Amino acid sequence: MEQKRTVFCLVDHKNYDLIDGVFLEDLDGSIKALIRRDFPKAANQDFICSEHLVHYRLQKMDQMIAKDYRQNRRINQKLTRVMEKDAYEVVDVQKQLENSLTFGQRVADAVAQFGGSWPFIISFVSLMILWILINTFHWFGINFDAFPFILLNLFLSMVAAVQAPFIMMSQNRAAKYDRMESRNDYHVNLKSEEEIRVLHSKIDHLIQQDQPNILQIQKIQTEMLGSIESQVNELRRLQNYFEENQADKQQASNQKND
Ligand SMILES: [Zn+2]
Repeated sequence: MEQKRTVFCLVDHKNYDLIDGVFLEDLDGSIKALIRRDFPKAANQDFICSEHLVHYRLQKMDQMIAKDYRQNRRINQKLTRVMEKDAYEVVDVQKQLENSLTFGQRVADAVAQFGGSWPFIISFVSLMILWILINTFHWFGINFDAFPFILLNLFLSMVAAVQAPFIMMSQNRAAKYDRMESRNDYHVNLKSEEEIRVLHSKIDHLIQQDQPNILQIQKIQTEMLGSIESQVNELRRLQNYFEENQADKQQASNQKND
């Protein structure tokens, strides 16, 4: 049988075939660092058996998973903080405003609305024309406000004086409505912005951390598969070797018997 080179594992100092493990120089830097943490004197030419290597590979995977976990938790905490920080409650401005309307405000609204409409203008102008006609041509035998219609002037001034405050009240309330709505919008925007920022960091984490970690784990698995494959090949080679030996022996004994 051919001479086999054996090496000793740096962990338990037992002898192994070359095929039963790897040299440190063939290992990934991070796994090498893990081994060096336990065996500071380990050099690149040192050998580690598959059994102990699996232990370190699992340790490495555990480390990556734990790191991922921590990062995920940190992001989730950030999200929770953002949600808690903004205690502002989004309100239905229209509903809130309608509920708080007083009787006077309702009347102001109705008057302002009627004052700013075509029916008001048409009826008002008609009334003035009728007034002037009656007092000019003495229709129905009435003549209570002769030219230049001083009483009509008085009434018009009074209507204008009363109408202005009505319109201003209504406008004030419209302004208040706008203010409330813009305050609402501002808070909603702020909240959305914060949430988008957290989402961003989540996606960044997914792309920059999770994916490389998964690839790394896949690499470790592929390495392990490779070493299993070479061990199987070695076993198959040994099996062939023994079978050939057996056949040779059989032949030799057969020849002797002849
Ligand atoms: Zn070992």
